[in-house]
Amino acid sequence: MEHELSLETLLQHLGEETPFPYGSVTPPIVQTTLFTAPSLRLRTEHGGLNEAGYVYTRESNPTVRLAEQKIAALEQTEDALCFASGMAAIASAILTFTRTGDHVVCVESAYPPTRTLLESWLTRYGVQATFIEGKCPEEFERALQPNTRLIYLESPSSMVFHLQDLRAVSMLARERGILTLCDNSWATPIYQNPHALGVDLVLHSASKYLGGHSDLLAGVVAGRREHIEQVRQTRSLLGGVLEPFGAWLLRGLRTLPVRMTRAHHSGLQVAEWLEQQPQVARVNHPGLPSHPQHALARQQMRGYGSLFSFETHPIRAEQAYAFADRLRLFRFGCSWGGYESLLLGWAQADTEPAPWLFRIYIGLENPDDLIRDLQGALPALTP
Ligand SMILES: *Cc1c(COP(=O)(O)O)cnc(C)c1O
Repeated sequence: MEHELSLETLLQHLGEETPFPYGSVTPPIVQTTLFTAPSLRLRTEHGGLNEAGYVYTRESNPTVRLAEQKIAALEQTEDALCFASGMAAIASAILTFTRTGDHVVCVESAYPPTRTLLESWLTRYGVQATFIEGKCPEEFERALQPNTRLIYLESPSSMVFHLQDLRAVSMLARERGILTLCDNSWATPIYQNPHALGVDLVLHSASKYLGGHSDLLAGVVAGRREHIEQVRQTRSLLGGVLEPFGAWLLRGLRTLPVRMTRAHHSGLQVAEWLEQQPQVARVNHPGLPSHPQHALARQQMRGYGSLFSFETHPIRAEQAYAFADRLRLFRFGCSWGGYESLLLGWAQADTEPAPWLFRIYIGLENPDDLIRDLQGALPALTP
């Protein structure tokens, strides 16, 4: 039955075929550490599990399992695992498949803590990494070494919005027995399925769009069962599992398709408008025809997230701060994927004036209101 239903329907029904206690519409939060068996005999004869197949929440929990089933369906993978944060998921996946003497090729625009993990933390254990821009498959090929074990991708990346050709890179990796990992937090499974394009493991910060309400820290690893079982052991040993209440907050998944439709349209509307403004030198959004990798974006994504960036002409820092102060509907912070619109900005040189890069996240507000807000503030950025 599962395969006949569309995603929007699956998200409401998958794993919920049996009614919940008391006819409750929402699933119970099974907020327990321990699952006991009715007899010692049963537990012993069930390999340490109780009759429902559970033993301890660090291993597995029904509330967490429900979220994992839905995410696996979304990502079109055999299975998925939830973690206490995106970084717990990313670190556990990398640690599962690397050992002393291994080499990793990673895109230089990857999420900064992921870079730090590979650049300065894993080197303690003798794992080396090479960072590349990653705009073409040949660049990956040139960076490979005989001991390359992993290729780490993030497409699009969440600062400069560079893409990698997921199909071509995973094909050249597979031919050489190299594992591919891709952070899919930006596009979400609604708009991109890296596994269907050949990537082995798909990673998410579920703290962003999957949770969707800025109230949940969570992460995901999704892939083939054989790989997931190995990552499950790492999760159990390092202990970075998602709490039952956190998994329950992934109820945000139910509205993910609706929110992503809105994100796609609102993000593009604001990006297209910004591109027309004299104070804006360029807009970095893969959905705009002006993006250098727009053709690739259309090939491997079905739509777009609403996080992007824009560059100004040379301005003074005071102008950047005045621009931000004039905004009424944007807050200033680094995460994204919730309902609230956000802005961050950095000078692109040490000189004054300097071009600035603003990263902007379009939330669930009406985009016309957001454009009016930006329109009132942009004159502050006139050189
Ligand atoms: C936020 C983020 C992460 C890390 O996720 P946490 O849940 O904060 O640990 C990883 N990748 C990307 C692209 C992110 O934006």
